[in-house]
Amino acid sequence: MTKIENVAKLLGAKNVGTVLTDELLAKHSTWKIGGQADIFVIPAGSQGVNYTLQVAREQSLPVVIIGGGSNLLFDDSGVRGIVIKIDAGLSYIEIDDNRIKAGAGVWVPCLARTAGKAGLSGLEHIIGIPGSLGGLLFMNGGSQRKNIGECVSIVRVMDRKGKQYEFSRQECEFAYRKSVFQEKDFIILEAELECPSGEPAAIRREMLSILQSRSNKFPRKLPNCGSVFVSDPAMYKSFGPPGKVIEDCMLKGAAVGDAEVSRQHANFIVNMGKATSSDVMELIDMVRRKVHQQTSCWFRCEVRYVSTAGEIKPLHRFL
Ligand SMILES: Cc1cc2nc3c(=O)[nH]c(=O)nc-3n(C[C@H](O)[C@H](O)[C@H](O)COP(=O)(O)OP(=O)(O)OC[C@H]3O[C@@H](n4cnc5c(N)ncnc54)[C@H](O)[C@@H]3O)c2cc1C
Repeated sequence: MTKIENVAKLLGAKNVGTVLTDELLAKHSTWKIGGQADIFVIPAGSQGVNYTLQVAREQSLPVVIIGGGSNLLFDDSGVRGIVIKIDAGLSYIEIDDNRIKAGAGVWVPCLARTAGKAGLSGLEHIIGIPGSLGGLLFMNGGSQRKNIGECVSIVRVMDRKGKQYEFSRQECEFAYRKSVFQEKDFIILEAELECPSGEPAAIRREMLSILQSRSNKFPRKLPNCGSVFVSDPAMYKSFGPPGKVIEDCMLKGAAVGDAEVSRQHANFIVNMGKATSSDVMELIDMVRRKVHQQTSCWFRCEVRYVSTAGEIKPLHRFL
């Protein structure tokens, strides 16, 4: 029996949840790019996460935590270790008055819709974000100049040794596309949100209008990972948002292999069919260099790269 088969057997015996070997990561990335993960676990609950971490420690295997894979570029060589996808096993929503308790695996548009139906507002802006609540909290994502951190009262996490902690909103250190979780090695398990009351029909109208405006602005049919670059306030003041800067550098439609700067919105890179991770990385490198030539500023990536060794960082740090 190989080491990987042995680890899969150990995980199966501990009933951690779904355990797959040689799972194609492209299936778990909205870019549809990425090779195989040696072991891929979808935990049935927080105990499943804990046991998987324990086995990974005993077997000295790296562990990568993912949600919906909507902000990640996996390498074509995949991951030599364990990928844990926080998904259905941690997907619950409980509403009590103005408080929502939700598992990190909850699908973000589903959270927005459920809150709206219960007459809770403040989450309309996340309706079109195709990720998990854990990923949204990690990235402090949002739209319409809002971010999820504004509604958070508590985030519950687990460290790599299985110990659980609670973070208040202040302790989460939310800022534009930033949270403390990007600096610390925690697995987000669940959050409590505090939302003001609203009228369900008005909330629904607002969400439909947001979805409509997004479908006019962003590429919908070709696989992508949302905005590639973070909007930098200083750069914004002098040159505008990243999409405009890239367009002004005449880079709309620029391509490497099957990776192309979207002709619809230049801060998106679309997979035209068979784009590889190196196509995307080369294209991002090219865009950053051309933008630097024109503006003397370096773009930072919102998108994160997952290396074969299981490291995850904003993609520009690997260039
Ligand atoms: C079409 C499209 C539109 C988008 N629009 C927006 C938008 O309007 N606003 C916006 O902010 N983003 C947007 N995004 C980007 C992306 O959807 C968000 O960043 C989202 O919050 C990522 O969630 P995820 O579950 O997919 O995380 P993933 O991509 O799986 O992971 C992102 C990071 O979070 C970490 N992570 C994920 N889950 C956990 C967890 N439970 N515990 C600890 N760490 C975790 C991962 O390790 C990784 O570093 C868009 C993406 C697409 C494809």
